[in-house]
Amino acid sequence: MKPEWGAVFRILEKWRREHLAASEGSDPSVTALAEEYKKEPGTPRTVLSDREELKERGSPPDKAWAVLVSTILSLRTKDAVTLKTSKSLLEKAPGPKELIGLGEEKTAKLAYPAGFYRTKAANLQKIAVILLTQYGGKVPADMDALLSLPGVGRKTANLVLTEAFDMDGICVDIHVHRISNRMGWVETEVPDKTEAELREILPKRYWKRINALLVLYGQNVCRPVSPFCSRCPLAKHCKRRGVGKAR
Ligand code: SF4
Repeated sequence: MKPEWGAVFRILEKWRREHLAASEGSDPSVTALAEEYKKEPGTPRTVLSDREELKERGSPPDKAWAVLVSTILSLRTKDAVTLKTSKSLLEKAPGPKELIGLGEEKTAKLAYPAGFYRTKAANLQKIAVILLTQYGGKVPADMDALLSLPGVGRKTANLVLTEAFDMDGICVDIHVHRISNRMGWVETEVPDKTEAELREILPKRYWKRINALLVLYGQNVCRPVSPFCSRCPLAKHCKRRGVGKAR
């Protein structure tokens, strides 16, 4: 049976609205962070909230740079830590030039306690050099170019393309991967394969939304261990493939 995409996405959007209203709008994920950038292009409100202070200090971080940096910091890191470290790092390094000026040690200090902060700091330094020498200091709006950057995988590249450049892409992280399999939309072992299969079956109009919706849903309802199936509004659309213990 074909997934009823329209119904599923309506349910997810409604659940998200209600959840955010009940939790006073707290969605600390990188995708939510990126949504903030969209409100005022070039000035990510969540990352750098004080416009006046920014004006005094110089130009705000480029939106694509901010999405790239915060997505790299977010890998294997709790959302709250991603927010804090992104803010610290982007304040000091609103662009690749400033990041190089910081040096690897200071970058690592600002990235701490994000997971693998030393590796991320080293990769960010290398990325900054590549951006300056090959792309005029800008983040490229191109999948292959993004994938050639150290530490950048498909998840990060897709998020940069969709959130910073408003291009088509499907950002598949562990939540999108898990829920897509449980729902029965795909049957895959790894996120990259999930992305490839979703590209075949998911109508394009949902590509950009799926990550933001399923990340929050996966953190709160369709949890990795023991999902809350008994109170899941998606239950009648879900095959519950691979679900053992549930609440
Ligand atoms: S029914 Fe259970 S497995 Fe399916 S989406 Fe809902 S919480 Fe996840």
